[in-house]
Amino acid sequence: MSSRHEILQQFLGAYVLGAVDGARRRQIDAHLEECAACTTEARDLEEARALLPQPPEPSPELWQRIVEEVRHHNEAQEEATG
Ligand SMILES: [Zn+2]
Repeated sequence: MSSRHEILQQFLGAYVLGAVDGARRRQIDAHLEECAACTTEARDLEEARALLPQPPEPSPELWQRIVEEVRHHNEAQEEATG
């Protein structure tokens, strides 16, 4: 069984990198307000990002992988929930 929590949790990494937009980002924003676990995880991810020695500028290849992963999850969720 796949809850909204489990689905949105997969996007937190992309979310803190600013790679999630639009409706998905609003879903995550709303979920973070009601989910302490995701709030904590997002904060940890942001702290980890802040500790990086350089601003996160993923290579085009890495961005492509992130984008494809997000797209894959989007399609999976849209099929599942409409
Ligand atoms: Zn959650």
